[in-house]
Amino acid sequence: MSYEPKNTINLCLAHMSEEGWERKFIDEAFDTNWVVPLGPNVDGFEKDLEEYAAERGGKKSIVALCSGTAAVHLALLAAGVQPGDEVIVQTFTFCASSHPVKYLGATPVFVDSEPGTWNMDVILLEEAIKDRIAKTGKTPKAIVPVSLYGMPYDCESIIEVANRYGIEVIEDAAEGFGSSFDGNLLGTYGRFGILSFNGNKMITTSGGGALICQNEEDKNTIMWYATQARDAYPYYQHTAIGYNYRLSNVCAGIGRGQMKIVDKHIAHHKHVCELYAKLLCGVDGTDLLHAEGGLIHSTIIPGLSLHVNPADIRYESNFWLCTVLLDPSIRIVGQENAYKEVVKSAIGGAAGVIKEVDSAVTDCQPNENIEALRMYMCSKKVEARPLWKPMHKQPVYADCPAYVNGVSEEIFKKGICLPSGPCVSDEDVHYIVECIKSAIVK
Ligand SMILES: *Cc1c(COP(=O)(O)O)cnc(C)c1O
Repeated sequence: MSYEPKNTINLCLAHMSEEGWERKFIDEAFDTNWVVPLGPNVDGFEKDLEEYAAERGGKKSIVALCSGTAAVHLALLAAGVQPGDEVIVQTFTFCASSHPVKYLGATPVFVDSEPGTWNMDVILLEEAIKDRIAKTGKTPKAIVPVSLYGMPYDCESIIEVANRYGIEVIEDAAEGFGSSFDGNLLGTYGRFGILSFNGNKMITTSGGGALICQNEEDKNTIMWYATQARDAYPYYQHTAIGYNYRLSNVCAGIGRGQMKIVDKHIAHHKHVCELYAKLLCGVDGTDLLHAEGGLIHSTIIPGLSLHVNPADIRYESNFWLCTVLLDPSIRIVGQENAYKEVVKSAIGGAAGVIKEVDSAVTDCQPNENIEALRMYMCSKKVEARPLWKPMHKQPVYADCPAYVNGVSEEIFKKGICLPSGPCVSDEDVHYIVECIKSAIVK
């Protein structure tokens, strides 16, 4: 193999515009002394986002916030979630979808995924609603579907079920910025839609998020909660508990620059995923069309022309992360050493902060060949990461009700995320696929 990467090929790194737009907007913030969590960049970024949404499905009102997690928190709050309430959350997700339910003293009720999109299974969702009503006498307050790795959920069916039971939908489109369902931008279907601009998301503000609202009234409520809930007196008067959740004007400057290249980023992610799909097609024991026997390229199948069945044309993914599944029968070089050591550096830990543990093993973890593949790729300077571990298998949520069908657990055990970001070149993808080939024991 002639090509060797100089540095580790990361999963998905922030990437600034070649034109330097981000710096220009940041400089403006400094030059005009708007170094505060409000100002022209915040207003401009919100306007950019609103225009982007308007071009893809309708007029919405959008509030820029300091993180996607803050957006989830305020959406739940504004949807009326109170202590003792229940909120239905997709179990196959990152913890930011469910932690804010706990912030509010409410209980997440986890619902498993359908095999096609890996997102909330609508039949199971309705079963869960009926069972919660029967068991508690109360209807859950909100439903939080998640666009896992960018793939849209079945917006139509989820909204239909939610409307039938009078439940609010809060779309966690943090990973799915730019994805659409039936031609409409994800996050515009529910009462609220979550966006994240963390460093690894489709576009970044370094850290940041936004809430898509259906109207100005909701936008005002969110804005109020995001600025310590101050009432309109000439002095500091409060009738509710608020938060300090607005986006910095400096960070919003990065966002304005990123909005100029968001379509380019999405096109690149899609290109990378298609290249993986093409190259992985030839790997021994792998086949894009059949789930049996090796690697399949699941996340992107509905978005790829090669595999589109008519029903799937409705789902347009942003191809945020590329994910492959590995059949448990396939043996990987070094597999005998999988899980022998605990993690010494962060695997996807925020800022590398993780709590030490005594053993690398739990009752629900990726298969040994997946852990071996992760280690092997790491030795080849390729960052590959496990999929999100389902929330109903997290110790912190052990007491929460869960409606499961085994789908998320199985995908979690078989799956691994491959580098997919704007910094990943065609050469990198060829190299990564060669590495995967050489990792498989013949
Ligand atoms: C990234 C992410 C969020 C929000 O994350 P922040 O890092 O707080 O911006 C929420 N939900 C999901 C599914 C995510 O992946």
